[in-house]
Amino acid sequence: MQQTRERAYAKINIGLDVLRRRPDGYHEVKMIMQTVDIYDDLLLEKTAQPGIQIQTDHEELPVNRDNLIYRAAALLMEDKKMTEGVKITLTKRIPIAAGMAGGSSDAAAAMRGLNVLFDMGCSVEELQRLGVKLGADIPYCIVGGTMLSEGIGEILTPLPAPPDVHLVVAKPDINVSTAFVYGNLHVERLQEHPDIDGMVQALSRGDLQGICDRMGNVLETVTVQEYPVIEEIKQVMRKKGALNALMSGSGPTVFGIFTDRKLAESAAEAIARKNLARQIFVTGFLTV
Ligand code: ATP
Repeated sequence: MQQTRERAYAKINIGLDVLRRRPDGYHEVKMIMQTVDIYDDLLLEKTAQPGIQIQTDHEELPVNRDNLIYRAAALLMEDKKMTEGVKITLTKRIPIAAGMAGGSSDAAAAMRGLNVLFDMGCSVEELQRLGVKLGADIPYCIVGGTMLSEGIGEILTPLPAPPDVHLVVAKPDINVSTAFVYGNLHVERLQEHPDIDGMVQALSRGDLQGICDRMGNVLETVTVQEYPVIEEIKQVMRKKGALNALMSGSGPTVFGIFTDRKLAESAAEAIARKNLARQIFVTGFLTV
């Protein structure tokens, strides 16, 4: 095999709770991850020269060691003592610094692709064990789907997929650093925590209203205060008929859940018309 392709899907958090800050600075989370149908493409090709080359159509992304794809490839290839060469071409669609795990998903897809291209024979668990050294979301991104994510993000429990919906995903034109958001979160001062256990039960029942009623993200306490546009987008989505709307991850991306495609499209148009976001998708959950 000379080349292989992988899709790197984005995720949203339909529920995100932070339980405590550990002495080592990591936060213990309890969140529900869901793959959405927005993806980057990776083409992995063997090269005659040893080493890792990255190419991308997105001019803001680094193509050196700072790209998570490079780091993931280097980690896996060094672990397997491989000296072959690979070129990875990334077509970027997932909004950047958005709370959609775009970089982590690219890194996970690179690991999956290398495993296939060089016939490494790594198990999913092995890729996850290596991947977590690079980022807490990578073990989830290796498999995707609907998962309860605990610990620092590495303890994963598969959950039943939510019912099919129409999803509006809007990323306002601001870049939010995950480190800033977690750094400014005061876990001990949080007044409310989302009912993640209740949401797990609602997922088991296939109860969409129950899921939507329990949507919550404690990181909104930091990001929404800094960027009120997030609340504005949520309000537009709700006014336009969303069952509920929430910020994903550390933000600033907002998603709204709709049962009617036309309402979802009209919400997306309203957000664009009001200039609240430029990157807007009408999409759905990706359920496997
Ligand atoms: P998360 O939900 O995991 O917090 P995010 O959506 O907030 O992720 P990313 O888009 O993954 O954030 O990336 C944030 C930073 O990582 C950007 O500043 C970007 O320059 C850098 N980065 C490195 N490699 C990549 C990549 N392949 N794709 C996107 N960003 C990358």
